[in-house]
Amino acid sequence: MINKTTIVSTLGPASASRDVISQLIAAGVSTFRLNFSHGTFDDHRAILRHINEIRGTLPYTISVMGDLCGPKIRTGLIETGTVLAENSTVSITVGDAIGNGEAFSTGFADLITEVQVGERILIDDGQLVFSVVEKKADRLICKVVVGGALSSHKGMNLPDTQLSVPAITEKDWRCVDWAIANELDYLSLSFVQRAEEIISLKDYIKDKDSKIQVIAKIEKPLAVDNIESIIHAADAIMIARGDLGVEMDLAEVPLVQKKITALCRRFAKPVIVATQVLQSMIENASPTRAEATDISNAVMEFADAVMLSGETAIGKHPAAAVKTLAHICQTTEAYIDRSNEPRPRMNIAADLRGTEAVARSVAHMLDEIKAAFVVVWAEDKGLGRLLSKARIDIPILLLCPDEKAAQQLSLCYGVISRHQPEMSSYEQWVDVVEKIVKENNWASEGEKLLLIPPLSVLSKNTAGAIIMHTIA
Ligand code: PGA
Ligand code: MN
Repeated sequence: MINKTTIVSTLGPASASRDVISQLIAAGVSTFRLNFSHGTFDDHRAILRHINEIRGTLPYTISVMGDLCGPKIRTGLIETGTVLAENSTVSITVGDAIGNGEAFSTGFADLITEVQVGERILIDDGQLVFSVVEKKADRLICKVVVGGALSSHKGMNLPDTQLSVPAITEKDWRCVDWAIANELDYLSLSFVQRAEEIISLKDYIKDKDSKIQVIAKIEKPLAVDNIESIIHAADAIMIARGDLGVEMDLAEVPLVQKKITALCRRFAKPVIVATQVLQSMIENASPTRAEATDISNAVMEFADAVMLSGETAIGKHPAAAVKTLAHICQTTEAYIDRSNEPRPRMNIAADLRGTEAVARSVAHMLDEIKAAFVVVWAEDKGLGRLLSKARIDIPILLLCPDEKAAQQLSLCYGVISRHQPEMSSYEQWVDVVEKIVKENNWASEGEKLLLIPPLSVLSKNTAGAIIMHTIA
């Protein structure tokens, strides 16, 4: 069965070999994430080399995302065994002093200017909670509201602080340049607060003549407040539930996820649901019931993609995690296909409306006839994205003259994309389509395809066409 909800897999020590990467692709991964928070450029380059070698052997394209850390703040080195008691006082300094029960440091240079008295500081995914009681020139003095063990290099979240520091740090810019030079397909930006941050990254990418696309990671309350403008500015959205669940009330996260998946569908932007998707499979060979339910709900909410983090980067069962995820997604997809829920309208830019009519017509046709595939010549990404968001019951085979676009579209729900050079006649185009679907056992003689061929091979002045075709 072909995966419709796509799978993003984070690569790391558990999955850096060519062999494991091949297994992950065979299990259903269509996008890999290189996390710039961990590993060196040499590590990422070695992984990318494997991916690029495997790419040449696949009948469809896959994409690679580089994840920019953004202003992720961490604790410095801390003496082992340090425990902070509730109601005690602790100071935070800037620099690299070794920490203990009285004081510790962070490398985040602007901590003292950015954080105000009364604001909270959360450590280690919210395990420890501080409240800032006083600001000195060289330190923040905090009351420990929730205590516990404090250790080195743990994440620090500032949920109440409106950061004025740029979302893209010096280190991020080096990663951006690396991603452009190594022709990645996507860059995801962490801790986005406003659309302007996405726009400035996109402007930089454009100036460098790169086609890399930008994913906004929604993990700050302010990003949730600014969600519509961020969706408009970004090429895709990631609901980064890990940090989001620390930065805001955990009980709000499922509701924020519902709101964002619905908005992304309305605005026809791909959306990824991320973090703790199969957390228990980092250790165990099978998931919890709650994890299965969470994945099924993401599919019901029409997420394009579901992402694995530690499960594939450092877990004990990377390929099993992907297989489990694919199976749960496919089971819920089949359920949705059997039910006759109305397909909500999209609310897209006026210049895409003709394209939306074609996408919706395909969906209507499929209510009447059975077909194996919709095969689309996607010169621009609009039609591919809209067909994907129309949530039709059969896979969409996108043939793209632009290799990069083909790779990027592999993130979208229901899409199998391939790079395909232009063709000069309709007959030639149909021959190629038949050959591809037969060769890969995707469809066989007598089955129907819905074809949306390049307009250039149809008669003059044709502005749109859907052709019903039976495989010979
Ligand atoms: P991260 O982002 O894995 O880069 O922290 C995802 C999240 O916070 O959910
Ligand atoms: Mn995060």
